[in-house]
Amino acid sequence: MADEKSISVEVVYRGIFQKTLAQRICRSIVLASRKKGHTGTAFSRYGDSPERNGVPAKQFAIVAVDEIELEASMAKYEPAVVDISVAVDDTLVKGVESWAWYGRQPIWKPIREGGTLLVTSEKTPGEIVAQSDRTPKPYTLGIVPGGASFAGLWVYKDDHTDYRVLGALAKVAPRWLPLEAAKQAALDLAKGDRSAAASVQYGYDATVLRQVGAGEGTDGHEKLQFTKPGWTTMRPGIVVDARKPGQRNPQYKKYTARTQRPVVNFDTCIKCTMCWLDCPDECFEVTPEGHYEVVYEACIGCGICAQVCPVKDCIVMVDELKFADNRDRWQDWKKDRGAYNTWFEKVSGVPADPKAAAPASAAGGDD
Ligand code: SF4
Ligand code: SF4
Repeated sequence: MADEKSISVEVVYRGIFQKTLAQRICRSIVLASRKKGHTGTAFSRYGDSPERNGVPAKQFAIVAVDEIELEASMAKYEPAVVDISVAVDDTLVKGVESWAWYGRQPIWKPIREGGTLLVTSEKTPGEIVAQSDRTPKPYTLGIVPGGASFAGLWVYKDDHTDYRVLGALAKVAPRWLPLEAAKQAALDLAKGDRSAAASVQYGYDATVLRQVGAGEGTDGHEKLQFTKPGWTTMRPGIVVDARKPGQRNPQYKKYTARTQRPVVNFDTCIKCTMCWLDCPDECFEVTPEGHYEVVYEACIGCGICAQVCPVKDCIVMVDELKFADNRDRWQDWKKDRGAYNTWFEKVSGVPADPKAAAPASAAGGDD
């Protein structure tokens, strides 16, 4: 480790909403390492498509002992292997799919064996490991205390996530980012505001490290990998297969973009069709009783259905990390309404009592 000539860090973030945050983290890494006498560069990936709201995206920082080593490290446009990965939204640990054509990737996939995954989260390391794919290689997990920062792109409201992450990086990579250099870089970026350096120190002190052994993690997430067509196998033109009735496009799965998911109270649903009509990704299927159930593999978690639903708390957006799979919940309601409603209350934190929603009886009940 001591004779390493360079180090690479990727920051995985929610497209657009966290773009400025990712930029600030990558730039601060380079700035801090320069104070130590290293050289470095920060860059983003402009891949196969432009960035979109909420869709996982990556930016990188590479630090090296000198310009020659930096140039050698930059030979690859996107590092296939990184030393440290930083996920600035903990729901990203369920897997990352920047664009559908190569499938969902485990969050630890690009991290070298023995590397580090830092996650900003209010959850425990155990809860994060439980939602990450089973890993074939050991790595270090670091939890940087704090919720996901959606500080914004155009108007950036800094909540010091960037500085706390820099402190955590100083903890796991002190040779490249010594704590004092990280604090000085934060002071420079914050134009002398000493609270920035205090946040670096907090990130350093409060980040909880936990070793993750090979074999830890869950098998609950779908294995979804596609083979990229080569130049000689591509078809001329672009063919977009139409969706057949009752059959969803098997490659249309954008659930890794989700930080929250809609949960439906079927007992208060008045079958108005608003969610079905307004969902931009056509995620709702009609049930035999005329309810609308969410196909979670297709749901991007935009929350529009919850906004247009006219019945209070009939669709509730819930933290994605409360769920371990994408299975259909209407089947649970059909099987045992009481048990489903108990689950609904527990997971959403709102009452499931149908009498609490006045319009429920207006549409003639369920069956
Ligand atoms: S949150 Fe609702 S409206 Fe948005 S994609 Fe999911 S089901 Fe559709
Ligand atoms: S918008 Fe709400 S009330 Fe209307 S069908 Fe959808 S879940 Fe039911």
